[in-house]
Amino acid sequence: MGDRDAGPASATFLPMGGTDEIGASCHFLNIDGTGILLDAGADPELEGQASLPDIDLVRRRSDRWVDHVLVSHAHHDHLGALPVVIRSFPHVMVHMTRATRDLADILLPASAKLQKKRLVEGSSSAQPLFDTEELGAYSYLYLTHELEATFDLTGLRGAGRIEGQLLDAGHVLGSAGLLLTAHGPDRPRRLFYTGDTGMRSQTIIRGARYPEEPVDTLVMEATLGADPDAEKTSRRLEEERLGEALREVLSGGGCAVLPVFALGRGQEIIALLDRYRKEGVIGEDVPIYSAGLLRAISDVYDRTRFSTPRMDEEFQVFGVEQKRLPRGRGGMAEALTRPGIFVLGSGMMFERTLSNRIAQEVVEHEKHAVLLVGFARDDSPAHRLLSATGNGQAPEVLLDASRGRQALRCRVVRFRFSGHSHRRDLIALVERLKPRRIILVHGETRARGWMADNLRYFYPEMDVCVPDQGEEVPLWPVEG
Ligand SMILES: [Zn+2]
Ligand SMILES: [Zn+2]
Repeated sequence: MGDRDAGPASATFLPMGGTDEIGASCHFLNIDGTGILLDAGADPELEGQASLPDIDLVRRRSDRWVDHVLVSHAHHDHLGALPVVIRSFPHVMVHMTRATRDLADILLPASAKLQKKRLVEGSSSAQPLFDTEELGAYSYLYLTHELEATFDLTGLRGAGRIEGQLLDAGHVLGSAGLLLTAHGPDRPRRLFYTGDTGMRSQTIIRGARYPEEPVDTLVMEATLGADPDAEKTSRRLEEERLGEALREVLSGGGCAVLPVFALGRGQEIIALLDRYRKEGVIGEDVPIYSAGLLRAISDVYDRTRFSTPRMDEEFQVFGVEQKRLPRGRGGMAEALTRPGIFVLGSGMMFERTLSNRIAQEVVEHEKHAVLLVGFARDDSPAHRLLSATGNGQAPEVLLDASRGRQALRCRVVRFRFSGHSHRRDLIALVERLKPRRIILVHGETRARGWMADNLRYFYPEMDVCVPDQGEEVPLWPVEG
C-alpha cells in the first residue's frame, strides 16, 4: 500500500474465510467502531469446524466485535455458518431480503440434517455445527428488508451513523448487494459489496440493478476472473447448444444427467427445459426428474414470483411437469432404459449427492450424457469428469472413492450458464462506480490475479487489494 494509507485507519476490511477459492465467504468490516459481517458462509466441500470462516479473528480480539451481519444470498458459501456466527455474537442483528430468509429456513435445516446424517452413517466424523431446534429460534432474529429500502447499520459503539441498502444482485432468488453509507466528521463514505453478482438476465431471474453513483470502496466478487470464454459466449447460443445436445441424446434412447445447484441453476434449467418442450426440441413425453431440496426451493421461487424481480412473473417452476426420482435401484435402472432428463444436485457432483450417484449409473454407457451447466471448481468430481474426456484412448473417471475408477463412455459436455458476471461486466461495473479502492474476493487465485492485473492496468489511480484470509486492509485511503 502507498503512503496515503499511513496513520491509523478507523475503517478496515478483514476476510475471515478463504478469499482465493469459492469457500466460506465472510468478511469483517470495522467502521469507526461499528462491526459488520458481510456474509456468513461455510465451505461447501469441507465439514465441521474446517468448513467455517475463522471466527476467532474477531471473537478473540477485545477491539473487534460484530453488531450486524448481512447475508447477501442463500448459497451455502454465504449462509452456511450463520448459526455459528449468531451463537458466537449473541447480540448480532441479521439482515437479508425476505426471499433469502424463506430460502434460509429451508437450507439451514437441510444442512443440519445432512450433517447429522453423515455423522450417524459414519461418512463423516465431524460433529454437526448446529441442529434444527436451534435454527427455529434464530429464524425469528432475521430482519428482512425490501430492495432499495434504507435501514440502519449503526453499531452500539459506532462513532458515526451507518446506513444500508440492499440492491438486486441478479444471480439467484433473493440475492442482494449491499450499499453502505458511513457518515463521518467530513463527508459520507460509500461502500458497495456486490455479493455474488449476475448482471445479465437469466431465464427466470432478472439481471442485477446496481448503483449508478460512484462509491469510495468496492468489494467485488471475481468468480469468473480467469475465464476468457465466459464473456465470448452468448446465452442464446449456449441455449441452442444444450437443446441440440439433449435432442441427440434423447433421440438415441439415452438419458441426460444435468448436475445443478439446488438453488438457482436448477430452477433456471427447468425453465429452459419448459421452453424446449414448447418449441418441440424435446418431446412432450420425455420425463424430467427432479428431487429433494431443488423441489422445495422451486416452491419458494413460485411463491415469491410476484414479490421479487422476475423476467416473467407468470412463470412457475412447478408449472413444468416433473417426476420424482424412482425409488430403489430397480426403479432407477428401469428409468434409465428410456429417454429421460435428470435435473439433480449437487452442481459440482460432490460425493454422496444425487447427481454423483446417478452419474455413476450412466458414465459407462455410450448412449447417455452428463451435461454440465454450472461452475465446477478444480477439485470437484464434476471437474474430474470434464477433464477425463479426451485423455487418451480409454478415459476413466473417479466419481466416488468407494466405487473406484469407472470407464468413461458417455458424452460429457460443458455449457456456460453462469449466474455470475463475466469479467468484462465486472470491469464495466468498476468503470461506472469509480471506486478509489477495490477489494477483490470470492475467486480462485488465477481469477483474482487476472482481475487485479487488468484493473491496475486500466485504472492506475485506483487501489486494488487482493487480501488473504486474516489480512486486514484499510477500507478507504486516509485523506490529508
Ligand atoms: Zn452464489
Ligand atoms: Zn458464492
